[in-house]
Amino acid sequence: MHPFWQTDITYLKRVGPKRAELLGKECNIHTFLDLLAYYPRKYVDRSRVSKVRDLRQSLSHVSLVGRITHFSLSSTKKGRKILTATFSDGSGNLELTWFQGIKWIQNSLKIGEEIAVFGKPNLYNGQWQITHPEMDHLKAETGARSTGQIVPFYPSTEKLSRIGLDSRGIRTIMHNLLELGQIHFEETLNQEICDQYQLLGRSQALMNVHFPENYDMLNRALRRLKFEEFFFFQLLLARKRKYSRNTNQSMPFPKIGAYFHDFFNHHMPFELTAAQKRVLKEIRKDLGRAIQMNRLVQGDVGSGKTMVAFMSMLIAKDNGFQSAIMAPTAILADQHYQKITKMAEKVGITTRLIVGGQRKKQRTEILESIASGEADIVIGTHAIIEDTVKFHRLGLVVVDEQHKFGVVQRSKLWHKADPFPHNLIMTATPIPRTLAMTLYGDVDVSVIDELPPGRKPIQTLVFKESKRLEVFGFIRKEIAKGRQVYVVYPLVEESEKLDLLAAEKGAELLERHFAEFRVGLVHGKMKAGAKDIEMERFVNKKAQILVSTTVIEVGVDVPNATIMVIENAERFGLSQLHQLRGRVGRGDHQSYCILMSGYKVSSDGKKRLQAMKDTTDGFKISEIDLELRGPGDFLGTRQSGLPEFQLANIVEDQELLQQAREAAFFLTEEDPQLQLPKHLAIKANFTRYARKHISLGTVA
Ligand code: ADP
Ligand code: MG
Repeated sequence: MHPFWQTDITYLKRVGPKRAELLGKECNIHTFLDLLAYYPRKYVDRSRVSKVRDLRQSLSHVSLVGRITHFSLSSTKKGRKILTATFSDGSGNLELTWFQGIKWIQNSLKIGEEIAVFGKPNLYNGQWQITHPEMDHLKAETGARSTGQIVPFYPSTEKLSRIGLDSRGIRTIMHNLLELGQIHFEETLNQEICDQYQLLGRSQALMNVHFPENYDMLNRALRRLKFEEFFFFQLLLARKRKYSRNTNQSMPFPKIGAYFHDFFNHHMPFELTAAQKRVLKEIRKDLGRAIQMNRLVQGDVGSGKTMVAFMSMLIAKDNGFQSAIMAPTAILADQHYQKITKMAEKVGITTRLIVGGQRKKQRTEILESIASGEADIVIGTHAIIEDTVKFHRLGLVVVDEQHKFGVVQRSKLWHKADPFPHNLIMTATPIPRTLAMTLYGDVDVSVIDELPPGRKPIQTLVFKESKRLEVFGFIRKEIAKGRQVYVVYPLVEESEKLDLLAAEKGAELLERHFAEFRVGLVHGKMKAGAKDIEMERFVNKKAQILVSTTVIEVGVDVPNATIMVIENAERFGLSQLHQLRGRVGRGDHQSYCILMSGYKVSSDGKKRLQAMKDTTDGFKISEIDLELRGPGDFLGTRQSGLPEFQLANIVEDQELLQQAREAAFFLTEEDPQLQLPKHLAIKANFTRYARKHISLGTVA
């Protein structure tokens, strides 16, 4: 990069030490390059000049050209000064008013001089007004003229505005920068890529993103710069993939042996769905290689991920390796343990459970059996990661509900084996398929996009509080038929205590109303043992209603439960609602999800409830969720390994993202070391990018 761009911002014309300091503090702008990458927040077309006569209340911002004919200074009752100027453009009069900066305005505006004003007109007592308009002196030859063209608006702050760096002030220094900097622009891609993807050159793009010649050029500039953002991120992923493919060795599992076949032929409780078979095949292929498998299985709640994981663990056993499965909660770990143990026993495979709060003696025995290799499958919470847990020969790690664990936790498990174990991640909160393909670098994605046959789609109903008795009536009928019910309370208050109170009160109400039934209560503050007892009561049908805070969110499996009541449903996120709904509809009976909603529901809240009524497809839900929340929130930038793109948006610009990915992956194949002369600029820029984003791209 040309050293020009590293210049301290202090030295830019009309900046200086005081402004530089604030630019650094408020906007993280320290160098010329930082300023260059400070893009406008919006653009306003001032190429159209309006007439006062044509003003309408509905117009947002307008620009007008005319003269000041009169000034008057007055003050409010509270003694605040107001400056009013009468502005005329020949077609009518308009009042310009200021509450601040009055002295400066008085000094800089002269009666009779031609000016352009810009702002939102308001009709006040039959008189058009613009408060604090932006203005241009048409006579003066200022470079950063802001009338008669598409004008950029820069984000600013109160502190910056106070020292003259409002949007307009930033526009001025940006103009100064570009005037100086033009000759120093360097291409960061190359001609080949620009030609192939019809991208503007970098200098043209930068000039136009700040001071667009016209809308067409603005759009092309944005496209080019977004492409670049995606491109370097994808290049990082492409190289990560190549790199991890080439270096992370694992033990190959070439055999499909006795354990697998015995279970498959004699003990399978059901036929696998086509999707389960397909995904299992993909896993088998991965496991056959001496390179670490790193596969993410996305499948809606109830799609049968556990069985796929279990079959994979049988393959590990067939090849003489242990497996570990890690779940986000003790309840879920225990449930996996119960289920998997039942299946494993049939073929003579040993399982062990590791969760917090186990007795010392018991724990010691468990640790020994893991270390000696007696335990074939170890199931647990993150307690598995602890240093005391040593494996004899760990070959496969399964992580359930991926989003609950961080990258670091997951890779810690890998270090319990040398070479690294194969890695299978299962998640029920799918991100839209198209996105998954473009966001994951070193992870392969499998999708179980089919539910086991015979499931009746869950009916989702929304009720307001006034219908509660009806809901209770319905619940009673279902319980009379032998079914069971979940009632979930959201985290509403800041304090867990208050949340618990809501759930406890709810349980009391239900107990009173359903005196003939047993109502259980589980919550996050309970001791593991007490929680287990409650859960067990429900699983064994001793309790008919289970009230909970969101602890049952992931994974529990009670096929006899057919009603999921969610209190204050509008307060839950969409994916959480969907997860909760997935707790029912697991058996042969018709199931229901009842969303109790408050009276005041935000528009997003309404959309979420509507989406729940409209579809039970987890992928559709995730798309709507993504739309509502935007990618940053949805993926949780930090955890997802996604950078924050400045201009690009992974949802709106998906097509461009695909193209950038294609270009980056192609380049990585063509010239892995970026040695060719034509890739010099790309290499230089990538090196800088990679250094800055060292932690990115490790999505799983
Ligand atoms: P999830 O993908 O949410 O983890 P589970 O693995 O818990 O789903 O499976 C949900 C339920 O469906 C379980 O009771 C499981 O035994 C059952 N199941 C899984 N696969 C099939 C299948 N192919 N046919 C019938 N039932 C299945
Ligand atoms: Mg599961």
